[in-house]
Amino acid sequence: MGEFELIDRYFKRPARRHPLGVGDDCALLGLAPGMQLAVSCDMLVEGRHFLATVDPRKLGHKSLAVNLSDLAACGVEPLAFVLALALPQADDAWLEPFSRGLLALADQHGCELVGGDTTRGPLNICVTVFGQVPPGQALLRSGAREGDDIYVSGTLGDARLALEAFRGTVSLSGEVFDATRARLETPTPRVALGLALRGVASAAIDVSDGLAGDLGHILDQSRVGARLEVDLLPGLMAAPTGAVPHERRLECVLAGGDDYELLFTAAPAQAGAVAAAAAAGGVAVTRIGRIEAEPGLRIVDGGGRPVPHRYASFDHFA
Ligand code: ADP
Ligand code: MG
Repeated sequence: MGEFELIDRYFKRPARRHPLGVGDDCALLGLAPGMQLAVSCDMLVEGRHFLATVDPRKLGHKSLAVNLSDLAACGVEPLAFVLALALPQADDAWLEPFSRGLLALADQHGCELVGGDTTRGPLNICVTVFGQVPPGQALLRSGAREGDDIYVSGTLGDARLALEAFRGTVSLSGEVFDATRARLETPTPRVALGLALRGVASAAIDVSDGLAGDLGHILDQSRVGARLEVDLLPGLMAAPTGAVPHERRLECVLAGGDDYELLFTAAPAQAGAVAAAAAAGGVAVTRIGRIEAEPGLRIVDGGGRPVPHRYASFDHFA
């Protein structure tokens, strides 16, 4: 199978929503009148972001999911994406499930594959996603204000628990392992929640590098601090009591990463609107703390006592 046959077989479908898709030198995108174009790019590298043994269908799903999660964090509606793919060989047994997983999630979100590049090389997957948002309405990291509540969607730490189980540093029951593994391998981008939070949230980010670090980005860019209440964090109880020590679970929640949940702030007066957005987004949302004027992140237990921590955001070069 040659390069062009590969593209035709697995990645070329008639463009539906856009004037021009795969097959020409450029794709042409249609935006609704007056909308701003939003762009985000994420790369997945074997050994860094996924295990060589992962099911290619799940890898296809995740490659787009992590990009849709960035659009969700900004309250952006997905439109289209391009795929740059380096492959060691043109292998149908890998390409068929990979493209199936990728395009199934794309169809769920009406986000069309409109182009890309395909080359031989060590397995590397780079997706660039395009979306639209009314000018001035994108959710940013810089809008958090003193007194805002801090919320997170879904649960945190599950993906990291699964990774630790793969590494053999924790042991999970079959049922818990399956559930956490699904969270690691096929995360759900919170696109509908992000859209519903426009005009409600004051700041937002998606949790890809760990709660403490990603909240740190909001705090830095908003020039504020925060108090997080450990007892409010969702997901601490994901593993059956006793199977994984509390300390390890807390570490997974605060510093695990790969969660792809939305972390956002909103003024207390917006609490009802936040609940409505959670209902519209089809995902639970939990209040986990409050923005304070004093810079820095303070993590406290139920009695208000400080929980010592040294959690920072994941850094590929640290
Ligand atoms: P060019 O050489 O002009 O850059 P290519 O030969 O690389 O174009 O690609 C031919 C067409 O196939 C282009 O429309 C390109 O966007 C598309 N394409 C290439 N690789 C992919 C891919 N992995 N997924 C989707 N479209 C792709
Ligand atoms: Mg060209």
